[in-house]
Amino acid sequence: MKVCVVGSGAREHVLAHVLGRTAEVVVTPGNPGVPGSVATPPAGVEADLYVVGPEAPLVAGLADELRASGRLVFGPGADGARLEGSKAWMKQVVEAAGVPTARYGAFHEVEPAVEFLRSLPGPWVVKTDGLAAGKGVLVATSLDEAIADVRAKLAGEAFGEAGRTVVVEEGMTGPELSLLAVCDGTRAVALAPAQDFKRIGDGDTGPNTGGMGAYSPVPGAGEALVADVMARCVEPTLAELRRRGIDYRGVLYAGLMLTPHGPRLVEFNVRFGDPEAQVVLPRLASDLAELLATASSGDLTHASPPAFVDDACVTVVLASEGYPAAPRSGDVIEGIAKAEATGATVFCAGVARGPAGDLVTAGGRVLAVTGTGASVAAAREHAYRAAELISWPGLYHRTDIALEAALR
Ligand code: AMP
Repeated sequence: MKVCVVGSGAREHVLAHVLGRTAEVVVTPGNPGVPGSVATPPAGVEADLYVVGPEAPLVAGLADELRASGRLVFGPGADGARLEGSKAWMKQVVEAAGVPTARYGAFHEVEPAVEFLRSLPGPWVVKTDGLAAGKGVLVATSLDEAIADVRAKLAGEAFGEAGRTVVVEEGMTGPELSLLAVCDGTRAVALAPAQDFKRIGDGDTGPNTGGMGAYSPVPGAGEALVADVMARCVEPTLAELRRRGIDYRGVLYAGLMLTPHGPRLVEFNVRFGDPEAQVVLPRLASDLAELLATASSGDLTHASPPAFVDDACVTVVLASEGYPAAPRSGDVIEGIAKAEATGATVFCAGVARGPAGDLVTAGGRVLAVTGTGASVAAAREHAYRAAELISWPGLYHRTDIALEAALR
């Protein structure tokens, strides 16, 4: 089977890496650190299966275009991708599906949003409605800060058109969990749970980012919890989408909070998580290409259920100085080969070819270094040992990825 992976980040790198176990893979556009990268646009690549990585092309209808020309595509059409393209619509769908989630309101005007904020006990959450690369969310512990953020977002100062509608939510508390499910339009199968780290700073401080690290498996998130989330969040949503005439074939990524009252849905994403994919997919013991192809063709019953090795994976994201606000670029990256010589895998995201032919930084999140081990502690030690061998001026990473889980 020949698979075409669409995208240019570390998620597409790990997809290509794991699909490459059983399939021939090209990545478009990829990046200079991803083997098999081609400049040809997806429609110009001949392949048996197209896997669309990022949310933006899904929201823009790339999967629809490819399907219209008779291709087999893993990834929802624009109709289903709206789950991620509009947080207000996502909340409507999950509410109709009876999924446990935070109370919310969607607003275009400041005054009703402020009134709703005042009715909530706090913490307060303010989100831009549209795509904001994981950075449009404020979790505030002060009402004044939440109100100021509503004003800034609705004024279009922060995210332009994406912020013209805000979603205000009741803040939930508890550890977060990411559960990715592969869907064929009717059925869904769960992949292994993961936990990711969204804030820039150690101890979950500072602004939200696209994700600074992740690990899998998650201690305490066993089969019963996975079955509960599938039954209460993923399956009802898939059924609600179907009821609305949406044939959802792709990943439904449930971002969850394990609250004192049980798991609650924070959000759905419509693609593999980045960096969750960098710890979940390498642990797959079954055939990823077969799984995604059968889901895309609408009948998962023909695929072997996903199976995972017991070994743990931890990934540490290496970012540029200034990320997420103003990442610098153009610094020469050293040490990738040394890191890989430890047995770790280095997935490339924001990299480019420099004038001297070497890899240079070209974005906020530059690399994701995945270590493996018999326990989360061992995988964590491996990931950090490998990450320390990589350098460029201003390299930044968190030092506490998977720390708590390693101590459990
Ligand atoms: P989202 O883009 O909706 O996933 O939000 C990004 C992050 O903001 C989540 O992973 C949570 O850490 C946090 N967050 C979002 N919604 C809530 C909520 N209702 N309560 C508490 N934290 C939240």
